[in-house]
Amino acid sequence: MNPNDATFTCLNCGRPETAGPLVALRYNGDQAWICSQCLPVLIHQPQRLVGRLAGAENLTPARHDH
Ligand SMILES: [Zn+2]
Repeated sequence: MNPNDATFTCLNCGRPETAGPLVALRYNGDQAWICSQCLPVLIHQPQRLVGRLAGAENLTPARHDH
């Protein structure tokens, strides 16, 4: 499969890049994509990504002061 033909999807909700912007992330040598709607989950509730993002159980939630 030509990688240029691949449609990337959000690692959390599976939303395809054709439905909205995806943000590239890199963690532990793996690249993944997350949509702008799920970015707050990665920042504040990374434990919800356990099983979806390798090593997510090691992430620490950012402080949430607002
Ligand atoms: Zn998403």
